[in-house]
Amino acid sequence: MTETNGALPTPSNGAGSTLDSGAPAASDRNSLSIGSNGPLLLHDVRLVETLAHFNRERVPERNPHAKGAGAFGVFETTEDVSRYTKAALFQKGARTEMLARFSTVAGEQGSPDTWRDVRGFALKFYTSEGNYDIVGNNTPIFFLRDPMKFPHFIRSQKRMPGTGLRDNNMQWDFWTLNPESAHQVTYLMGDRGLPKTWRHMNGYGSHTYMWINAQGEKFWVKYHFKTDQGVQTMTDEEAERLAGSDADFHRRDLVEAIERGEYPSWTLYVQVMPYEDAKTYRFNPFDLTKVWPHSDYPLIKVGKMTLNRNPENFFAEIEQAAFAPSNLVPGIGVSPDKMLLGRVFAYADAQRARIGTNYLQLPVNKPKVKVNSYTFDGHMTYEHSGSAPVYAPNSYGRPWSDETGPAEDGWEADGEMVRSAYSLHAEDDDFSQAGTLVREVFDDAQRERLVQTVANHLAGGVVEPVLSRAFQYWRNVDGAVGERIEKAYYEIKANGASSR
Ligand code: NDP
Repeated sequence: MTETNGALPTPSNGAGSTLDSGAPAASDRNSLSIGSNGPLLLHDVRLVETLAHFNRERVPERNPHAKGAGAFGVFETTEDVSRYTKAALFQKGARTEMLARFSTVAGEQGSPDTWRDVRGFALKFYTSEGNYDIVGNNTPIFFLRDPMKFPHFIRSQKRMPGTGLRDNNMQWDFWTLNPESAHQVTYLMGDRGLPKTWRHMNGYGSHTYMWINAQGEKFWVKYHFKTDQGVQTMTDEEAERLAGSDADFHRRDLVEAIERGEYPSWTLYVQVMPYEDAKTYRFNPFDLTKVWPHSDYPLIKVGKMTLNRNPENFFAEIEQAAFAPSNLVPGIGVSPDKMLLGRVFAYADAQRARIGTNYLQLPVNKPKVKVNSYTFDGHMTYEHSGSAPVYAPNSYGRPWSDETGPAEDGWEADGEMVRSAYSLHAEDDDFSQAGTLVREVFDDAQRERLVQTVANHLAGGVVEPVLSRAFQYWRNVDGAVGERIEKAYYEIKANGASSR
């Protein structure tokens, strides 16, 4: 007698499944064995294929921004900004299919969506001139100005090498030794460090980009995607409760809102700086730790992005989605922002390492336009150019590009080769814009929440000499707030309470 497998529903058409090769598969339930209790047989192709492929189901998770999700939608340009850019997607009336992915930064794939963190806001536009990506965050600024520091920063926010635990002391050690982080840390410790949902946060391109119009005139731009749902945040208590009860809270919210037909949208504005202003502007306009005050460069409306379609398959369309600021289109260029220049290399390279050399051939990453690039072969080549010449120039009709002279999206640079921080503009420093945020944007209640959030975070394991440096860091942001943080810290300690 043999044990039964129990009654199961059978496919109505009786077709059964297939092997990866397409031939009929014998069974998805029973391995091939010698007798009912006997050893298994290596030539059970279905079993071998099932186990071997399972071992290879995962690709490496993204190093930063591992936990996220996204949706497809459309971007519509509603205003005429042609005096600033000739990019096809930003011409009035253009509708462009797009993909958005939102994420936390430090946590791993399974980590809670509601940990206090910056949120990624990555966009891919499938334009008529090739793919354009804006790989931004829900903050208009960043912790650093030099990409050399980026891997160090990310490691300091992740886990201790010995214990594998996250560690507040390590975070503050890094932040206080890199005081250019102050503006972003203030933003993060403020209310916006805990967005209620992804639908209720703004997205910012953060970097400065170049726009070029049809006459070849250049402008510097910053992108602001303002949520049409309104900015909403959550309290520490709510975030902690959700972290324990529903780690996928933000992912679930987006999926369910789209399923309900409540399509979230964001209105895109840009700040535009005339090309020549950059040289003498009071702040270095390419410093990623700074905003351009709205009073200097007001927001100009461009259009609206609406997310209206959930992915059909999370792995294929979100996990394998590859965003990179190197995906640029005519009419848009980069800028002398050193962080951006580092990312232009690093992001595409991360995708090659994470997904594979030919990641751009996957449907989610594939441009909608015909590709005639001179890169060839490699693992998993699917698209190919047949017997066309693989070199340029060639005598057999395959087009190649031959631009010479000044680059349309270039800028002037000269000088000795040095290793140096940016030269300072009149009002550049590490703390003043963070101070403006605390004093002029936060109200009393927000300032009090900032004090409590920082004091709690410091009480969660920050020790000397980092602790004293952290108090000084906050006094540099704002004298009064710094004093209050120190006082609140000692009160928490006296009460014996501390957070994670
Ligand atoms: P404004 O008064 O013109 O702008 C302040 C902006 O701060 C608002 O427009 C809003 O940006 C944002 N904001 C409002 N509440 C919060 C909050 N709780 N946490 C974080 N940001 C908030 O002043 P300035 O342009 O002169 O900027 C002053 C400070 O505001 C800056 O130092 C910066 O810290 C912050 N800020 C500035 C932005 C900019 O691009 N100029 C963008 C975001 C913040 P939004 O409209 O984008 O929601």
